[in-house]
Amino acid sequence: MPRPIEALIHTEALAANLARARQAAPDARVWAVVKANAYGHGIERAFAGLRGADGFALLDLDEAERLRRLGWRGPILLLEGCFEPRDLETCSRLGLWHAVHCDAQIDWLAAHKTQQPHRVFLKMNSGMNRLGFRPEAFRGAWARLDALPQVDEISLMTHFADADGPGGVARQMATFAAATRDLPGERSLSNSAATLRHAASVGVTADWVRAGILLYGSAPDHPQHDSAHWGLQPAMTLRARLLAVQALQPGDAVGYGGHFVADAPMRIGVVACGYADGYPRVCPTGTPVLVDGVRTRTVGRVSMDMITVDLGPVPAAGPGSEVTLWGRGPGAAVLPIDEVAQAAGTLGYELMCALAPRVPVRVVD
Ligand SMILES: *Cc1c(COP(=O)(O)O)cnc(C)c1O
Repeated sequence: MPRPIEALIHTEALAANLARARQAAPDARVWAVVKANAYGHGIERAFAGLRGADGFALLDLDEAERLRRLGWRGPILLLEGCFEPRDLETCSRLGLWHAVHCDAQIDWLAAHKTQQPHRVFLKMNSGMNRLGFRPEAFRGAWARLDALPQVDEISLMTHFADADGPGGVARQMATFAAATRDLPGERSLSNSAATLRHAASVGVTADWVRAGILLYGSAPDHPQHDSAHWGLQPAMTLRARLLAVQALQPGDAVGYGGHFVADAPMRIGVVACGYADGYPRVCPTGTPVLVDGVRTRTVGRVSMDMITVDLGPVPAAGPGSEVTLWGRGPGAAVLPIDEVAQAAGTLGYELMCALAPRVPVRVVD
C-alpha cells in the first residue's frame, strides 16, 4: 500500500471559479493564469477545469508547449515575454503572444525573421517597479513596435502592486490611463484581487483580466476576506490518514524539541504528512486541521514525514482516519488553504505552489 497521502484536484471547482471570474468581469475576456505549473495543480490536471477560459497566461515556454500538446489552439500569453532572442522562434512556431517589457525585447523582435507577425502586450511600469516601461517611455516603445513588420496587434498591459491591500488601484490606473490615452489596442490591467475587489472602478477589468489565484479557490485578500466571501471553491485538497494514536499523560512532550507538552491526559493522532510533502514546517501548534471532517489543531513540531494533531474534538478517530490538511474534507467540511497559510505566516499561493513531487495527485470531478 502506498503511503496514505494524496492531493486531489477538483475539476468542477476550477470551472466554478472561472465562472466566478466571468461574473466579476462580464465584459472582459479571461486569461487563466497557469504559471508555476498552474500554481502547483499541474497544467495537464487543471486543463479540464479551465479550458473554458479565453486564453492561458504563463511564463515558461515549456509550459506553453505543454498546453499546445493538450490541444489548446487559443491564445497563450507569455507574461514576461521572451528571455532570449531564440524564444521568438518558439513564439512563431507555437503562435504565442508575448509581453514586451524592455528595449532588448524590441531589439530581438526587430532582428527576428518570421512569416507571421506577432501579437504583443506592451507592459507599463505604472508604479510597481518590477517589469515594464515607465510611463514617459511607453509611447516611444509603442512607436518602435508599431513600425516593425514583425509586430501585428499591440495590446497594453500593466500590473497592480496593491490591488489586495489598502493602496488599491486608483493611482496606477490614473498613471496608465494618462500615458495610454491616445493609443489604440486592447488593455489588460487586473489580477484576481483587482477583478474581485475593484470591478466597480471604471475601466479596471478592461478587455482582458488575468485571473490567477482566484481560479484555485484562494482569496486574494485573505484575511480581510475569505474564499467563502468571494464564492470560491478549493481546487486542491491535501489529505492523509492517521498512522498511529498516542495517549499522553500530563507532562508528556510531543515530537522534535518536545515543544508541545500535555497539561492533561489527551489523545493525539500521528498524520502521514510532513514538510517533505509541502506542509509548512513553520506551522505552529494550533494550526487548523480536519480529522474525519472535524476541525481540530496541530500540536508540536511539523517533521519531515509526520505531523501530530489533537484528537480531543474527535474521540472516535483512530489509525486510518482521514485527515484534511487543506481543501475539502468528508461531507461538506472545508478547510481553506488560506487558514493554514496564515498560520504559517504566508499566502495560499505559496502552499499550493509548494506541493511536493512525492505526493500522488488525482484529478476528480
Ligand atoms: C501571476 C500574475 C497574475 C495573476 O495574479 P493573481 O494574483 O494570482 O491573480 C496576473 N498578472 C501577472 C502579470 C502575473 O504575473
